[in-house]
Amino acid sequence: MDPAFDIGDPRGRRHARAKELASQLALRHVSAIALTWVDNAGITRVKTVPTRKLLDATDWGVGMSPIFDVYAVDDSITTSTYIGGPVGDLRLYPDLDQVTALDAQPGWAWGPVDRRTQNGEVYPACQRSFARRMAAAAVERGVSFQMAFEVEWFVGHETEEDGVTPACSGPAYGMTRVIELTDYIHDLLESLAAQGVPVEQFHPEYAPGQLELSVAPTDPVGAADRHVLVRQTIRAVSEHYGFRASFAPVVTPGITGNGPHLHLSAWSAGQNLFTGGPGVYGLTEPGESLLAEVLDRLPALCAITAPSAGSYLRLVPQQWAAPYQCWGRENREAALRLVTGTAGSEHVAANVELKCVDGSANPYLVVGSVLAVAVAGLDRGRTLPPEVTVDPSTLPEAERPPRLPRSIPEAVERLSADEVIGAAMGEPLLHAFLAVRRAEAEIFAHSTEAEIAAATRWAY
Ligand code: GLU
Ligand code: MG
Repeated sequence: MDPAFDIGDPRGRRHARAKELASQLALRHVSAIALTWVDNAGITRVKTVPTRKLLDATDWGVGMSPIFDVYAVDDSITTSTYIGGPVGDLRLYPDLDQVTALDAQPGWAWGPVDRRTQNGEVYPACQRSFARRMAAAAVERGVSFQMAFEVEWFVGHETEEDGVTPACSGPAYGMTRVIELTDYIHDLLESLAAQGVPVEQFHPEYAPGQLELSVAPTDPVGAADRHVLVRQTIRAVSEHYGFRASFAPVVTPGITGNGPHLHLSAWSAGQNLFTGGPGVYGLTEPGESLLAEVLDRLPALCAITAPSAGSYLRLVPQQWAAPYQCWGRENREAALRLVTGTAGSEHVAANVELKCVDGSANPYLVVGSVLAVAVAGLDRGRTLPPEVTVDPSTLPEAERPPRLPRSIPEAVERLSADEVIGAAMGEPLLHAFLAVRRAEAEIFAHSTEAEIAAATRWAY
């Protein structure tokens, strides 16, 4: 067992930290802690404990069945090679460094968990441990990544006919929406600030009732944790106002969906690998090589970044969802959008936006799989193909870059054939993930677009 993980050791660092944290939380009148993890369907699952049980949870974990690894979005249960069935138990161990008192849910705190076996070993299908393992592998290779997920969401009400009405009527990017929702947005920003989330920007998005928030980059696992916290905070503040929040890839078919795009930058010895080098737009050799690897493996990555039936309603041309396997500087129809930053700021600002990510993706799996591919590409000396400088769908067919997968089965096939991502995930996690993907493809095989949207709108 990893020695830093001082399971049940009363003299251990975690034990002392849990004691201190529990008394701090009690002073702030926090009486319960929500311990969350995100499953292979992209749903945040939870067990909660009273604050006085934090010490026990830290020492011995909190029980939860491994069955949730084969849950689909509708809570139906499939099975897989290694995981499935009613037997067995796992322990949820809170990451104490991330435990946060929830401003939008007074009396509550939240913390992400790592899942371990009853013997204290890392559970091979733990998505967060996978992300952590990949981040550590990058650091071992001398490269650290900074990441941030944007959040797009719809806020409004459900109508009786299974549709939605937005909570605001102002135009896209319109100040009117900010005025209509002034208290809601203000409360949200205040809660995020109180929870230590460094918000960078907020704006009304394109679709009716759609809003967007971006946060500062941080380490990869921290970025996934932050994404979970931000989404749950948005949901909680929305509930206060009697609104519902949807993070689903598609809220209403035919209307631009929600993309929690992933921004990433790679750093070595304090140097941003996406600037200051001899390559196109100043990309360094390892920077360009890792991007070329990511670009190449995008169809396989899509199984993870755009995993659900709704994903493929969103991933269509001319919605800025970027369904083409290509890259381009500031090209919002390219799956890999290179952001160089304002002249003079490149050394801090240069980053890449992965656009083919949606709200049904598990952020830990996104982080882990992108890192696995990026690290595999670091030293391969690969170069990027020519950039696409226009909307790819306007190019003559012969010059158009390939479309990313258009369905779950297509993406699953690409992931199954990919030797880097599957090997990094390991069989128990990969097989359970693929089983859930196949189950969801089956569940929605004969559904209309409207039925898919209605069944998944509030799930994520
Ligand atoms: N809402 C779009 C999507 O589904 C993205 C719009 C944007 O580029 O911010 O990805
Ligand atoms: Mg946006």
